[in-house]
Amino acid sequence: MQQALSKNGNSGILMTTMESALNWARSSSMWPLLFGLACCAIEMMATQAATYDLSRFGMELMRPSPRQSDLMIVAGRLTHKMAPVLRHLYDQMPEPKWVIAFGSCAASGCLFNNYAVVQGVDQIVPVDIHIAGCPPRPEQLIHGILSLHEKIHGEHLSTWYDGNSNQSA
Ligand code: SF4
Repeated sequence: MQQALSKNGNSGILMTTMESALNWARSSSMWPLLFGLACCAIEMMATQAATYDLSRFGMELMRPSPRQSDLMIVAGRLTHKMAPVLRHLYDQMPEPKWVIAFGSCAASGCLFNNYAVVQGVDQIVPVDIHIAGCPPRPEQLIHGILSLHEKIHGEHLSTWYDGNSNQSA
């Protein structure tokens, strides 16, 4: 239970659960890792720029360090050579953390069905949201982020603290 003052000076009471408050805080203050792999990264950058403005969702800026990030947006195709680097960056992110596979290449390899490209980044890191398209538009990334928010709102504290976390690929 929390007592708060409204703008007109009247006192009010806000009741919620610790789980709901935590999920709300987590979904409202995500910091994405600044990490782009290929052409889809241009769309990710456009989503952060003025026209689409990810700041509206509490994502003020992309962090240059995995240690300050809780959202990895895999934007573009992932080569087998780059896969260990991606996993290393993911492992350096503190928990709780989430992953969006942005674009058909990240989700499935798309047209790069060859020996060099990973056929879906979920083979390397656990993916929460897949976004199709070549390239997907910024609106699709925003839709994916909002879908991730909905997923987080349904998460239970025990997911992260009882050792059942699905954090290994
Ligand atoms: S999905 Fe299309 S735009 Fe995105 S990385 Fe692959 S080829 Fe490039």
